[in-house]
Amino acid sequence: PTGLSSLSTRITSSSFIALKNTQYFCKNLFRIFSLQALFVILLQQIACMGFLEEIKRRRTFGIISHPDAGKTTLTEKLLLFGGAIQEAGAVKSNKIKKGATSDFMEIERQRGISVATSVLAFVYKDKKINILDTPGHKDFAEDTFRTLTAVDSVIVVIDVAKGVEEQTEKLVEVCRMRKIPIIVFINKLDREGKDAFDLMDEVEQKLGLKVTPLSVPIGMGYDFKGIYNIWERNIQLFQDESKQTIGKKEHFESLDDPGLEAEIGSTRLKNLKEELELIKGVYPTFDQQEYLDGNLQPVLFGSALNNFGVQELLNCFIEIAPKPLAKQSDTRLVEPDDEKFAGFVFKIHANMDPNHRDRLAFIKIVSGTFERNKPYHHVRLKKKLKFSSPNAFFAEKKQIVDISYPGDIVGLHDTGNFKIGDTLTAGDILQFKGIPSFSPEHFRFINNNDPLKAKQLAKGIDQLMDEGVAQLFTLNLNGRKVIGTVGALQFEVIQYRLLHEYGAKCSFENLNVHKACWIEANTESDDFKEFQRIKQKFLAKDKSGKLVFLADSAFSLQMTQDKYRDIQFHNTSEF
Ligand code: GDP
Repeated sequence: PTGLSSLSTRITSSSFIALKNTQYFCKNLFRIFSLQALFVILLQQIACMGFLEEIKRRRTFGIISHPDAGKTTLTEKLLLFGGAIQEAGAVKSNKIKKGATSDFMEIERQRGISVATSVLAFVYKDKKINILDTPGHKDFAEDTFRTLTAVDSVIVVIDVAKGVEEQTEKLVEVCRMRKIPIIVFINKLDREGKDAFDLMDEVEQKLGLKVTPLSVPIGMGYDFKGIYNIWERNIQLFQDESKQTIGKKEHFESLDDPGLEAEIGSTRLKNLKEELELIKGVYPTFDQQEYLDGNLQPVLFGSALNNFGVQELLNCFIEIAPKPLAKQSDTRLVEPDDEKFAGFVFKIHANMDPNHRDRLAFIKIVSGTFERNKPYHHVRLKKKLKFSSPNAFFAEKKQIVDISYPGDIVGLHDTGNFKIGDTLTAGDILQFKGIPSFSPEHFRFINNNDPLKAKQLAKGIDQLMDEGVAQLFTLNLNGRKVIGTVGALQFEVIQYRLLHEYGAKCSFENLNVHKACWIEANTESDDFKEFQRIKQKFLAKDKSGKLVFLADSAFSLQMTQDKYRDIQFHNTSEF
């Protein structure tokens, strides 16, 4: 028994030691793990802070204007002040110059330039600024509308002499509908133009905006002396010197500076003081939240060509303009600080080289980070895609980037996977909203002129429509294909590109359509069945299979709407 008891003591004590050792080991292991976990958490926190900082410093916006108001000049001057270019003349105008060369050449030239200027990014005072290019030509208005889905704010340029013009009205209407924050820049103050206050009235009336000036011009045209900067509370005097570089300006901190009176004269100083009083009494004080909500639009004055008022605009812009905004999807509001990547395609550019059928799809990053070589989910195609060379844009240069943040635009090489409006995510099944098709203005039948090339033609049409060059409708009655465009110029673009890129010959045939309306109805109702029977000739499907009514006149559209009150006729494909 003694032997047994000593054996049992030995076993107990050795198992006790073993237990102690295990405990010690576990404790150490736990310590190591918790240290490691702490370290990982710390790293994650740092990365997260970095991620949030990156979002906060981004400003993605578009400049919109009627052609010739000075959009290209202003863009260039912003790049100049941002230090992204050294010399003016580097940014090419993407204007369609009709008549200068043959239209085909012009289209190619324009396409080349619009690739180069699609996104112009630069860093200014530690803010990463992304300017998205918007074509001013009305035939490309749909391109501009789509680009507006990817901006977080806009600057509207208005010519001081011409005031609010047609194209400005259309574009601002879209911005207003979407509540996009707007800054108004009144340009060409070095020329004789309208009175600043009359112009602000015109902006309010024609554009339906509520404005508040953040600067006031002192004189105009030959008599243009400078601006009082309400935002920075100082005065800049205009010196008509070097237009191409950033010249020195005379600067006063206060209206009471005796030097100011000497420069502009006592009458002008008195007028200026009166105007500032008037502004105080008549216009609301600037409120950033009101501006961000799209309820108040600040106005600034200057002359882009003369570098005047541009830096003031930029300084004000980086302080007040929104950082990347959340975007609505079909399932939820996607916030930029959501760590999982989500983005959408707002523009597709065909390669300029006809031997390579690849295209560049422009993606706006809405949330998370987009990383090179990481697989992402293409929601519409339900497939994973990886990108080895995503392009980012700096001033006019493209370069491959490893990581991009919300607000950024990346250009992805695409061999036909993307169409406008497609969503790409880190795995979530969601589809971004707000990238609708609008009713085209011109409609023509497209005919195949070479029966041996029917396949090429079909493929060409398909890809050009994905790019958003025009819209395709297929008539219910006989399957004939109808192309709808915003401007007549697009038909030339399509014909030319089908021939040169796909080797397919086509011709167009006129078709009398006033507007395309997307139909929303209870398809089981008697009303709808009757509508379908009577209007059979005018019904078609758009490219995604949605039913569209091609009304032949405004009158017939009105009559049809009056008759079938339960059917909704929408002007855009998204309702
Ligand atoms: P966009 O069509 O809106 O891009 O206009 P551009 O930037 O091409 O400008 C149209 C014309 O207006 C060009 O000849 C510019 O040189 C001129 N322009 C632009 N800004 C100013 C300005 O501040 N003053 C004057 N006098 N001309 C300007």
